[in-house]
Order: sequence, then structure tokens, then C-alpha cells
Amino acid sequence: MIMHLSALFFSVAALLTPIQVTAQEARPRSILVLDQSDMRGPFYHQVFSGLRSAVTADRQSHITLYTESLDLSRFHGRNHEANLQRYFGDKYHGIPIGTVVSVGSATLELVLRWRSELWPGVPVVFAMVDEIDLARLRLPDNVTGNIVKVPLADSIKAARAMVPGLQTVVFVGDAWDGLSIYKNWKEEIPVAAAGLDVIDFVGQTMAEVRKGVAALPDKSAIIYSAMFSDGQGTYFPPATAVSLIAEKANRPIVVAAETFLAPGGAGGFVLLPHRMGEDVGRLALRVLNGEPASSMPPAVADAVKPIFNWLQMQRWGVSESNLPPGSEIYFRESSLWERYRWQTIAIAAALLMQAALISVLLHERHKRNDAELESRHRMTELAHVNRHATAGELSSSIAHELNQPLGTILTNTETAQLILNSPSPDLSEIKEILADIRRDDLRASEVIHRMRSFLTRAPYESKDIDINDTLREVFDFLSVQASARNVAMYLKPSASSLWVKGDPVQLQQVIMNLILNSMDAMVPMPYGRTVIGRTEKNGESSAVVSISDSGPGIPPEKLNEVFDPFFTTKQQGMGIGLSIARTIVQAHKGRIWAENQTGGGAVFRLSLPLALS
Ligand code: ADP
Repeated sequence: MIMHLSALFFSVAALLTPIQVTAQEARPRSILVLDQSDMRGPFYHQVFSGLRSAVTADRQSHITLYTESLDLSRFHGRNHEANLQRYFGDKYHGIPIGTVVSVGSATLELVLRWRSELWPGVPVVFAMVDEIDLARLRLPDNVTGNIVKVPLADSIKAARAMVPGLQTVVFVGDAWDGLSIYKNWKEEIPVAAAGLDVIDFVGQTMAEVRKGVAALPDKSAIIYSAMFSDGQGTYFPPATAVSLIAEKANRPIVVAAETFLAPGGAGGFVLLPHRMGEDVGRLALRVLNGEPASSMPPAVADAVKPIFNWLQMQRWGVSESNLPPGSEIYFRESSLWERYRWQTIAIAAALLMQAALISVLLHERHKRNDAELESRHRMTELAHVNRHATAGELSSSIAHELNQPLGTILTNTETAQLILNSPSPDLSEIKEILADIRRDDLRASEVIHRMRSFLTRAPYESKDIDINDTLREVFDFLSVQASARNVAMYLKPSASSLWVKGDPVQLQQVIMNLILNSMDAMVPMPYGRTVIGRTEKNGESSAVVSISDSGPGIPPEKLNEVFDPFFTTKQQGMGIGLSIARTIVQAHKGRIWAENQTGGGAVFRLSLPLALS
């Protein structure tokens, strides 16, 4: 009676503190994973790695994982099972196990049979067991897990998506009763494949299957469950079997496990082994942390997804739009754009920037060319004005130059008239006089011609010129002016020609401006008015022309200023001669500057680049 009362007391206390009832003590931190097949194959390996990643996510304390492959698809029978039981009994004797995780229904069946002896009271968490097996196994206490559902109807749906107008389904795989989760398909065929022709290669040898799948009719699809053995003693990891079949198949292969896609499966509603492992790992973790397995009823795992192989889709001409909603595509070959997006963007940006830079530079160059043309035009205009001014300055000496031959012509004509009026005119003398008249006329017209060409508005032209010739021409041109102004002019050209590239008329103008300035500067000098023109080579790259005089020189602080436009110290001066000279020289890529000579007088030098020979 007392015992009964105390039991009642404890029961009531337990009801009042539900946590203490449901939460068992935390279990040893170890999990024994038992795989139905070979853990080294891709499928079970994925299951294990999913489980491991889930349990290692728990940072409470380290969990020891033991793993065993029961290899039940290759080894069957009571004897094998008894051997396994003995083996595990020995191996795990005295080793605390927190929970046993069993993968596959055949494994669960064995674990449940062994548990009372090998792991009494240890909770069991299962994965990859379908509802029919679950019902058959009638779960005892302290067992939970995830149910897997891979209906044949889904595979037929995938087949229809890949083969529009599907007429035939071809089954390939191990004999139905040797399969784990796919064995129920056999019963599902009449409903799921209603209206379709069925070709059944199930249980046939690999050689037969490979031959058969090479000659399938149009509008057919292969439905692959899993093939471990060809019934003749040859065993395959089922993923390897897919690749052997895919090698020969003339139609797409619908598969039901993710690991069958890479070796040649075209797609299907596939089991995701990694996710299945994660799910069962999380359950095992809860059990280890003290939640009773019985408080977590088995639930259907969300571990199936429509996934298709892009490479196979290309091979069989499967359109993406035909795939079931929510489908994922594996192995899609990314386009060049997708693969090298950032590199492409960077290169395109660099090219664009380069193109923009080039167009800006071209625009600038164009603008500069225009500006250069414009300034050259202006310079030519100014030079022309300057020439007119010079011509005005020269007009008295030109008149003098013309007067001389005209006067001689007049005198000679009068003399000829006198001779002709004489009784016996000397014709030979007349001849001589006529020759003189002709010579003087030519001299006069030469003066006019020179003046006219000096005043011609010539556009800028660039040619190879010997600067010695230019200097000589100017000296000739100004010789009359010089003698009229009582100036002695000396020419000291370099021994050899000095070729520069430029406009001869404009360079003449520069030199003429300098000489006329020298003549102007020397007006106050009562005597000894001298202008010396020199040319010399300066190193290998330039020629220097200098015009020196015996005038008063230039105040040192004005040596630069004299080149400024409108700088003049003359009453009638315009102050543009030197500024034009500088513009012209700079347009010829040269330099002009003024100095005072130690012995008195100014010297103007201009340096011009020598023309490349
Ligand atoms: P302009 O002859 O109309 O004055 P320029 O530009 O040719 O204009 O000359 C500017 C000024 O430079 C002259 O007014 C003069 O003061 C000075 N100059 C030029 N050449 C000489 C020279 N050889 N000696 C002294 N002064 C000079």
C-alpha cells in the first residue's frame, strides 16, 4: 500500500513538473552510424557528411562519430547478420553510445532486432525508411527518424517533362525486392504508368541492359532505380552503373537520387542525401541533448527536389520551360559573360575610357590644329601689313632706285635723237645706246618686280631653304636703302649651306625688320653706321642668324620688352615689327632674342632648327 502511495505521489509530482518527465538525462556524446550500403560510395558518403555537418554545428561539446557500413546490398542472410551482430557486440563492448543512427530500412530492421542485446535502452534515430516499411516494422519505444517518400509518379512526371508525348517507360535497376526505397515502385506501376507502354529490364545483367537501352523506341524514357548487382556476381556502386548505362542509352535516364545526375542521369525528383543526413543529424543531436526519441514522432523528410542535368538536357533537346515548377538545373555551362563578367566589365570600361580619352585628345588636336591654322593665317595677314609698312619706309629709296635707270634711259634717248639728226648718223653708236636703254629698262622692271613680289599676299608655305640665301637676298634688297642712309652692310655667311625648313618670304621679312630697325637705331650716329649679318651653325641641330649694328644698343631692362606688341620708342613707330618677327620665328619652332654687344650696339639673334637631311 505504501509502495502504491509513493508511486502515486511520484506520478503526480511528475505530472506537475512535465519537463523532468520528458527530458531524460543528456546522453553520452557519441553516435554510431550504421549504413545499409557502402559509406565510401557517393550517396552514403553524402548522407554521412550531412549528418556530420549538423552534429558539429552543436558547440556544446565534442561528439564522437562511429560509422559502419553493413553492405546489405552485397551480403545477405541470417549468417551474415549474426556475424555482424557478434562483430559489433565485440567492437562496441564497453563503449558508451549516445544514439544509434540507422540509414535504410533493412538496417533499421537489424538494429531493432539487436538493440536489446547490443545497445539496451539506447535511442535509435533512422533515415531513409519509407512509410510501408515503417508500418511493417511497428516501431518500439525510443525510436524516431525521418520518413522518405520517392513515389514512382514523380519519376513519370519527370519523364513526361523531358520527353513530350511520352509513350514508353523503361525500368532499369536491381530486382525489385533487393531494393530499399524504390521497391514499392513495382506496385505503383499500374497506376503511375497507366496508358504507357512498359519495358522492364529490372534484374537483367549489365550487358543485357546496355544492349537494350541502346535501341529504345522514340518517345521513351529510362527510369532508373538503382543497380548494385547484375545478378552474375558483378557489383557496382549504383552511380557507376548509371554511367555504364548512360554510355549506351539512346534515350534520357530519369533518376531518383542526386548522386546519379553527374554520372549521366538526365534529371528527376531526386533524393538529396546531404540534406537527409543533415536532418537525421539534427534529430540525433536533440536526442543526445536529452529529448526523448518517443516525443518526436517520425516525419516525412523534405529531402526530394526536381533537379535536372543541363548537359543531358542539351543532349536530348529538353526545354527548360517544360520542367516541373521549382526545378533546379545542375551543371549549367555558364556563358562567357557569366564566367568573365567582372573581367569583361573592367576591360569594356578600360576600352571605353581609352576611347573617350582618344576622342578627347583627337578633339583637342583638332582644335589645336584649327587654332594653329588660324594663328598662322593671322600672322600672314600681319606680316603682310608689316610689309606694306616696310614698303612705305622703303618707297623713297625705291623711287631713287627707279629714277636712276629712268634718268639714264631719258639721257640715252635724247643722245640717240641727236645722233639720228646728224647728217651721217653712226649706227653702231645707236646700237650701243639701244642696248644701254634695254639694260636700264630691265633694271627698272627688276625693281618693280621685286617690290611686287615683296608685297604679294602669299599663303604660308614650308620648304627647304638655305638661310644664307635668304640673308643674301635681304641684303641685296636693302642695299640701295643702306647707301641712301649711309649704312655699310657686311654679310658674313657660314662656310657651308644651312638648310632650314620654313617659309622664305616670312623669314626674309624677319631679317628685313631687324636690319631696318638697326638702320633706324643708327640715325643719331654721325658716322660709322654698320650692319653685320652673320649665319653660323650651332651644334648639330640649329642655325643661328645674327644682325648686329653699331647703334646705341637697347637699355638692358628693355631687352625682352622690345618684342612686346606696340612697344616702340620711335615717333612714327607702330611697335609691331619685332613682335611679328617673334611670332614668325616661333611658328618655325625657333627662338629670337636681343643682346647688347660689349663694344656697343645691339645684336639680334634668331635660332632655327636645321632641316633633317
Ligand atoms: P618699331 O620699329 O615700329 O618701333 P619694332 O617692334 O620693330 O617696332 O621695334 C620696337 C622697338 O625696339 C623700337 O622702337 C626700338 O626702341 C627697339 N629696337 C629695335 N631694334 C633696335 C636696335 N637695333 N637698336 C636699338 N633699339 C632697337
